[in-house]
Amino acid sequence: FKMARQFFVGGNFKMNGVKESITSIVKNLNAAKLDSTTEVVISPPALYLTLTRELADPKIGVAAQNVFDKPNGAFTGEISVEQLADSNINWVVIGHSERRVILKETDEFIARKTKAAIEGGLSVIFCIGETLEEREANKTIDVVTRQLNAAAKELSKEQWDKVVIAYEPVWAIGTGKVATTEQAQEVHAAIRQWLGASVSAEAQANVRIIYGGSVSEKNCRELAQKEDVDGFLVGGASLKPAFVDIINARI
Ligand code: PGA
Repeated sequence: FKMARQFFVGGNFKMNGVKESITSIVKNLNAAKLDSTTEVVISPPALYLTLTRELADPKIGVAAQNVFDKPNGAFTGEISVEQLADSNINWVVIGHSERRVILKETDEFIARKTKAAIEGGLSVIFCIGETLEEREANKTIDVVTRQLNAAAKELSKEQWDKVVIAYEPVWAIGTGKVATTEQAQEVHAAIRQWLGASVSAEAQANVRIIYGGSVSEKNCRELAQKEDVDGFLVGGASLKPAFVDIINARI
């Protein structure tokens, strides 16, 4: 039995694409037959957000890959919540492991950005997940709990209804090494339990927990059947026609 949470599939283009290829990806999505019960949100590089928003069918959401935690001001190179909202960008990916690891973003900074985004009217794809080293040391649940606790310190209980949690084991991202359905379900169930214990019964029932890490048209169907897997955050495959099959994983 699965709760009535709307299935959610995000496409994280990362730092890929140029005008021409992004235009063709978006046009292909517009033309494809997508499961109308699935919420679809695509996340192109910042320079192409407005192009994507203008081209994409209105039922497809568009997400920035990052945002700053402070209001407009002297922050060279950053993009504000206000600027995203002003450009009709209603979603933002925050806390992706590539930003945590390569750009050294801390749990606290990520939590502040999440708060600022929600206060400014955006919805957030909040990414968490453990490294291979942490998994092998049996620290997976500790790590995701630490990452979630940082956000819980900043957010009110009601603000969690603007959050989609993306569980992305770092060892599965871009590696072709997908988590087994059991591994994904185990962590998703622990996250759902955490929502009940640390946020509210409503959040436990309603917050979507999506899986990311080498999701493909081949493995998505089995993952989609797991009780606590409410969708996917797709990297590499979101740039390919196979993304449509992943959006349609349940039909
Ligand atoms: P991947 O990336 O699907 O290429 O593994 C997922 C992500 O980083 O969001």
